[in-house]
Amino acid sequence: MTVTGVKLQVESSTKLKIQLRVLLIEDNQLDSELILRSLRSNGYEVASVVVQDEAAFTKALRAHNPDVVLADYNLPTWKGMEAVAVMHREGLDVPLILVSGALGDVTAVECIKRGATDYVLKDGLARLPEAIRRALEEKATRQLRLEAERNLARKATELERSNADLEQFAYVASHDLQEPLRMVTAYTQLLAERYQGKLDADADKFIGYASEGAQRMQVLIQDLLAFSRVGRDGVVRREIECNAVMLEVLQTLSSAIQESGAAITAGALPTLWGDRTQLAQIFQNLIGNAIKFRQEKEPLIVAISAEKNDLEWRFKVTDNGIGIAPEHLENIFIVFQRLHARTEYPGNGIGLAICKKIVERAGGKIWVESAVGHGSSFIFTMPLASCGAPEAAQP
Ligand code: ADP
Repeated sequence: MTVTGVKLQVESSTKLKIQLRVLLIEDNQLDSELILRSLRSNGYEVASVVVQDEAAFTKALRAHNPDVVLADYNLPTWKGMEAVAVMHREGLDVPLILVSGALGDVTAVECIKRGATDYVLKDGLARLPEAIRRALEEKATRQLRLEAERNLARKATELERSNADLEQFAYVASHDLQEPLRMVTAYTQLLAERYQGKLDADADKFIGYASEGAQRMQVLIQDLLAFSRVGRDGVVRREIECNAVMLEVLQTLSSAIQESGAAITAGALPTLWGDRTQLAQIFQNLIGNAIKFRQEKEPLIVAISAEKNDLEWRFKVTDNGIGIAPEHLENIFIVFQRLHARTEYPGNGIGLAICKKIVERAGGKIWVESAVGHGSSFIFTMPLASCGAPEAAQP
């Protein structure tokens, strides 16, 4: 024997057989044997059970745990396709391949529609091993997809729970910290009033730092509380005249607008369903920021507009201010994220985080388009579904 011959012999004897549990619905013994032989001669190591009626099939299904069901179409007291309903009832996903004598195209298509995976004619059994391989592969893919979907759903639930926990924590922490902090602030103020100028210069400085720190912490905690309260205090949905909301916001900001000499233009804004206070808060934060982050070298122009597409209203607040570097376009929406020292521009970095939370809770999105030195456009969407009846949302 040549070296090559020995090698071939070893390969064929070690070739792995595929274990296959077959549940065969067949009343003809010769056909059963032919079917099983065609599998055994094509690399399958078959364990089989043969049944002819529903009761035996149901019993074997539970006891045998088959990888595949091979069913004859017509039996004396039953029909192979009925097995699909049984498996459905048992909550089992086992591929069923019809192995039948002549089966018209129309019937075959109908069977596939009703849940058969494939069909093979008895005089074309050579196709059976490949049909089984494909059916098992499809089942494996289906199960992987199902598993992935289940994982995703589980993760979404976990995320929801951990978000709720975090919100609860932020709320409780900021709420409960207020009381002791009020005491610290009150007593440092008392210290300042009573002892300022009565001790030495260092003492004055230290008292000053302490009361300044306490006041800053109070503002931060109030901001955090405001952030965690978004949506918590209940959203009051009603018809909002955005033009009227805009007028009120501009009124609130009137001294800052006058001081900055800003030219603010607002296009026709829609009437929509939503929470009026929250919408006003978004406009106020965005316009307030446009005023705060203006350029010294040119007069500030702010334009507010809204347009509707099939899915949503899209609001835009554009300024010609200092702009934002590309690497910060996303993180400015995170709580307490700021790009400048407080001495340069006042603020705590909560405004945009609140806008994002409000918008996302309403099912919308918010983002910014900007370039340093060339102004910014803050865009947020409100889905029509959350705006109420589309016909109610007209400009
Ligand atoms: P704050 O205004 O208190 O700093 P915000 O959350 O409103 O907090 O904004 C976060 C950061 O985003 C700001 O510190 C600023 O750096 C940047 N920013 C926001 N709006 C603008 C704007 N219109 N132009 C330039 N930068 C902006």
